[in-house]
Amino acid sequence: MIIRPVFAELVEEAEKRGCPLSEIILEREEREHAVPRRELWDKMRDYWQTMSQAVMEGVQAGKKSLSGLIGDEAFQLKKYAESGSALGGRTTTLAAARAMGVGTVSVSMGKIVAAPTAGSCGILPAVLLTAAEQTGAGEDRIIGGLFTAAGIGRIIDDTVSTSGASAGCQAECGAASCMAAAAAVEIAGGTPAQAAHAGAIALKSILGLVCDPVAGLVEIPCIKRNAMGAANALLAADMAMAGIESRIPIDEVIGAMKEIGDLMPGSLRETAQAGLANTPTARAIERQIFGTE
Ligand code: SF4
Repeated sequence: MIIRPVFAELVEEAEKRGCPLSEIILEREEREHAVPRRELWDKMRDYWQTMSQAVMEGVQAGKKSLSGLIGDEAFQLKKYAESGSALGGRTTTLAAARAMGVGTVSVSMGKIVAAPTAGSCGILPAVLLTAAEQTGAGEDRIIGGLFTAAGIGRIIDDTVSTSGASAGCQAECGAASCMAAAAAVEIAGGTPAQAAHAGAIALKSILGLVCDPVAGLVEIPCIKRNAMGAANALLAADMAMAGIESRIPIDEVIGAMKEIGDLMPGSLRETAQAGLANTPTARAIERQIFGTE
């Protein structure tokens, strides 16, 4: 599928001017919405405060989703990350725990920022906080990263969708992972081109992921997919920072995502008719919660 190279234009402009992607995206937002930069920045800072609060809250013990299907998993993983035994290392495991934690806050009716959706809300805050801790970046760099993430999210939303009902989980956890990977590179001081490669690598790795929530609730497998999306984003960011490039440019990856989304049957787009939602265990859970299938 051929789409206009929208993201490539942003990268080209940023590289030409020697500024981060977030600067270009912020300027465009200012122009399009006629809102002063200070106001946009302050709004994004408010979002970040909500996100970081959800990260802190989500990894506490004693959480329960409304259905009772999700509980202390984020807390368990955080404890394990801090034990020093994590096979994937403390940083990635802690990021995964944080992503699950924010998802848990969401399903227990806490306050989150849907970035891009409530189902995938854990990936971006978990990755940004972790990248900032790793690099010593302050809040302004995080907020800059959020503008870069928002810029990519907007392109995906305009080109495909950021809804599992439209294009599967690739459009929720895939988009979030793509946004987070690019933002993490910016936070780490990478170039706009590296940010684009990171986003492309992250999204390529989640292409085709269907939306098949058990009992139609945004809990299983969503919470664990947030963990995987965060780990995927960090690895994609590290690949790009190591100088590895995506052979398929990000705009074309987004085009492929649209093609796959269009081909995806309705049964795998949030309707809980197929996939994990149609396994014997999932159907038993559904009966247990709702009394019927
Ligand atoms: S499985 Fe569906 S509901 Fe769950 S996070 Fe993915 S897109 Fe959202």
